[in-house]
Amino acid sequence: MVVMASDIYNIFGQMTVLVIRFFYCYMHIQTWDHGEIMLPAQLESLKKFHGHLGPYVVVGLRMGKFAVEKRGVGGKKLKCVVKTGTKPPISCIIDGIQFSSSCTLGKGNISVEDKGLAEALFFKDDKKIKIGLKDDIKSRIDREMSKENEEELSLWVYEMSAEKLFNISIE
Ligand SMILES: [Zn+2]
Repeated sequence: MVVMASDIYNIFGQMTVLVIRFFYCYMHIQTWDHGEIMLPAQLESLKKFHGHLGPYVVVGLRMGKFAVEKRGVGGKKLKCVVKTGTKPPISCIIDGIQFSSSCTLGKGNISVEDKGLAEALFFKDDKKIKIGLKDDIKSRIDREMSKENEEELSLWVYEMSAEKLFNISIE
C-alpha cells in the first residue's frame, strides 16, 4: 500500500477539525450550558461585594482604578465626589469606586451629588481628575442592559481601554 502525501494531508486536516470541534464544545460547556460566564477573579470579588455584577458597578471599578493606578492619586488624602445620585442602576458606580479606590463612605472621603451623571471627580492635594463615561458607551449600556446579559456587558466594560470608555480631564 502506498501512502500518498494527500492521504496524510487529509488525516491531518480531519484531526485538526476534531480538535477545533472539541474546544468549541468545551467552551460552550464552560459558558452557556451552566448559564454563567467565566469571570476574572476581580469581577467575582466585585460581584460578592455589590450583590450582583452589572456594567455600572464595573464602570465605577474602572474609574477608581484609573485614578489610583494611572494617575497615582491613591492613598490617604484622596477624596472623591460622585455625580450619579443614589438611584440604581447608575448609582452602582459608587460601589465600584469604593471597591477600587481608598474612597469609602465609612472613611468619609466619598460624597454623592444628585446630578444623574456617570461622572466622578477625584481630588488629591492640588490635583483634580474628572472622569466621565463616554456618551456612546452609556447609550449602549442603557439600551442593552437586562438581567440576562448584565454580566456580558460587565465584561465588555471591564476589557475596554480607558480611552474608549472615558472622557478624562486633569486639572
Ligand atoms: Zn448594581
